[in-house]
Amino acid sequence: MSKHVARVATSCVACGCCEAVCPKNAIAVFKGVRAVVDENKCVGCGKCMRACPAEVIELVGRED
Ligand code: SF4
Ligand code: SF4
Repeated sequence: MSKHVARVATSCVACGCCEAVCPKNAIAVFKGVRAVVDENKCVGCGKCMRACPAEVIELVGRED
């Protein structure tokens, strides 16, 4: 499992850009409110972070 995982801040504007680029289907807009990451699927590639126009995604180390 990757050492990093994407994390979405509460200021997400639910645009869906992250969902469109994730190669693992690990991030999706939940109920039109904000994006949520499935940590079991996320491989920490950072594509969502680079695609986010609001810059509200960061990669953080997994707690293990
Ligand atoms: S870091 Fe990569 S795998 Fe994880 S949610 Fe973002 S695009 Fe998907
Ligand atoms: S790209 Fe950024 S602002 Fe848009 S849904 Fe994803 S996390 Fe939210």
